[in-house]
Amino acid sequence: TGAVRAGASGRLPPTALGKLLPAARERFGGQLVLVTGAASGIGKAIALAFAEAGARVVAVDRDAEGAAGTAELSLRIGAPEAWPETVDVSDGPAMEALAARTLDRYGVPDVVVNNAGIGLAGSFLDTTPEDWKQVLDVNLWGVIHGCRLYGRQLVERGEGGHIVNTASAAAFLPSRALPAYSTSKAAVLMLSECLRAELAPHGIGVSAICPGLVNTAITGSARHAGVSDKEQERRRAKSARLYRLRNYPPEKVARAVVKAVLRDTAVVPVTSEARGARLLSRLSPGA
Ligand code: NAD
Repeated sequence: TGAVRAGASGRLPPTALGKLLPAARERFGGQLVLVTGAASGIGKAIALAFAEAGARVVAVDRDAEGAAGTAELSLRIGAPEAWPETVDVSDGPAMEALAARTLDRYGVPDVVVNNAGIGLAGSFLDTTPEDWKQVLDVNLWGVIHGCRLYGRQLVERGEGGHIVNTASAAAFLPSRALPAYSTSKAAVLMLSECLRAELAPHGIGVSAICPGLVNTAITGSARHAGVSDKEQERRRAKSARLYRLRNYPPEKVARAVVKAVLRDTAVVPVTSEARGARLLSRLSPGA
């Protein structure tokens, strides 16, 4: 198989677990953890946090080079084994092939993190059907495919496990800026809660993670609907500045994910604005 050798050089990113490390080692040491969107940002930090806990890591992304980089870092940080896998999570047949391949090569993942996602900004009326399709294909269908395929593997194995889906604070915060993105994330939140109810009798946990602004590359790649290329660049740079200023590190989201699996938490609003948004949505739905 395509196992990566640990490279000798290069600086390691900051570790995530801190005081959680002993409990995380105890639970995840030697377990198999599969993370999508693992080449960059939050997914990379999640893969490395489980590596720190001694898990075997499958780093999945459409970016093959980035996935290989995360697999290599996983080995250096403490994973006994780590492998990259390349897939577009929105491609159903490719996801089926991935699930068959990972089962064959590595076994059933004890923890599956459906995290790959893309950003899309722009008003509702400026968002075209193609824009909607693209964001729903990746952010919603990517998670549906992962949950269906790996949920089935976990149920058939019959030894418990956990599925984590990356939603967002946007899932419970109506806004004029992100209608399609927020809709995709609200759907991820709801499907996670439905699946949680269905899998609980099998001893399988499901958690939805809801970060607010986290300092990652997503601001540089998110599209802004209905604006010129030049304006697109200006808006991307503006949001990248905002996220940098906010400076919330992906390692803190990774820590929240590990904690959510340890404690089997259903919905995890990670940042303070996400916690505020969750509270607000409960107090005044539709505000
Ligand atoms: P990122 O751009 O740094 O990472 C996203 C990763 O997903 C990339 O490696 C990318 O190659 C991969 N990816 C995108 N589309 C894919 C596809 N179709 N198939 C396979 N891989 C694909 O962004 P991030 O901020 O780390 O985002 C990770 C998740 O966190 C996303 O679901 C995002 O919506 C969510 N999120 C991010 C923030 C934030 O502020 N950064 C806040 C809330 C939720």
